[in-house]
Amino acid sequence: MSYVLSIVSKFLKSAIPGVSTRGAILLQVGLFAIVAALAWLPHDSDRGPVATVSQAVLPVIESPIPPPVSVGFSTIEVVVSRNDTMDRLFRRFELNLADLASLRDLPGLRSQLDKLHPGELLRIMHHGGELVGLERKLSDSETLKVTRDAAGFVSDVLENPLEVHTRTASATIDSSLFQAAADAGLPERVAFELAEIFQYDIDFVLDIQQGDRFTVVYEEIFQDGESLKSGNILAARFINEGREYRAVRYENAQGRGEYFAPDGRSLRKAFIRAPVQFSRISSRFNPSRRHPVLNRIRAHRGVDYAAPVGTPVRAAGNGRVKFVGKQGGFGNVIELEHGSGVVTVYGHLSRFKSGLRRGQRVELGSVIGYVGMTGLATGPHLHYEYRVRGSHKNPQTVPLPNAEPIAESERDRFMAATADFVNLLDLPAGPALVAR
Ligand SMILES: [Zn+2]
Repeated sequence: MSYVLSIVSKFLKSAIPGVSTRGAILLQVGLFAIVAALAWLPHDSDRGPVATVSQAVLPVIESPIPPPVSVGFSTIEVVVSRNDTMDRLFRRFELNLADLASLRDLPGLRSQLDKLHPGELLRIMHHGGELVGLERKLSDSETLKVTRDAAGFVSDVLENPLEVHTRTASATIDSSLFQAAADAGLPERVAFELAEIFQYDIDFVLDIQQGDRFTVVYEEIFQDGESLKSGNILAARFINEGREYRAVRYENAQGRGEYFAPDGRSLRKAFIRAPVQFSRISSRFNPSRRHPVLNRIRAHRGVDYAAPVGTPVRAAGNGRVKFVGKQGGFGNVIELEHGSGVVTVYGHLSRFKSGLRRGQRVELGSVIGYVGMTGLATGPHLHYEYRVRGSHKNPQTVPLPNAEPIAESERDRFMAATADFVNLLDLPAGPALVAR
């Protein structure tokens, strides 16, 4: 039995890349796309920008004015490079600048021509330098088409809608998540996102075992009957060492997508474990340690993360600046207050984020300062503490609270929006149909 969900969507707005892995993954995918586009398109390495010229026969124009001189026109295909503007392209290809001026006078066209994006493809049709037509892809589903007729230039936006299908795939891991995903015909991007969704529960480097299984329900985007790319993961389940984790995507009323357990619990934690990208832990939480500088027993009530001077230090959770300034052996230090009695402390900073002041709100993951060795420190590192109601906890092992669940006021909307996709997780995988 199979279900197919088919939604004709206006246009798929991909989520805004957040901090952390997501940004990196998207960047990677983006770069890959650009490289692929450049490799695919013919280009002339000496000139930088790409141009191919082909001859075509001008179609018969039903016009009282006969076409000029000859009946052939040339097509130039250009891959836009950095710093290219329409003006520069017109000059480079010796096209009539007066034509460009006329184009810009068409309603709405100036804005559609002024900002070119590196890597995009333009098609320019001309006849001995006189512009005959122009095509520019505005988005995956829209193409701007300018043509010239007897009266002048005419522009039109051609719609080529994307179709979003829902696909379900399952796989059992033999060697790695990525291998299993590839064997199941899943794009690499879906595997990356799957790992990101469950990153707070599963360590995809250390915890993955042979025999782990997953099912993923995701969007596949088609155009003209061909698969173009993958969209969002809508629901997923992952069985790691016999333990099952489930996730479902929910887009709130503001259009922001986030993953929750099907019962509405957040899959994210309210804190990140280590607020800095570190090379090693130079000193662990230890209530009876000999202090390296003072050379006497003094409790080490935090973790020292060794990292080069200047490495960004991030807020471990949403909160408010409780203290920012100098404090004895800690040197430049920041204290954040997170509610429920949790306070985090960041010591030995080289400097603070400019403008950071007491009372200011900070968001999880935002940069608050930079690694240094101010105060009593033998080398550059971040001294990080996690306190609960005044008592120091081991930041490496303290159970971190979950982020906020679905708000009570959104609960009904959440359940209604996600039920179908959660159900798909329990059906046999395959192309599927849900009409809506
Ligand atoms: Zn320390």
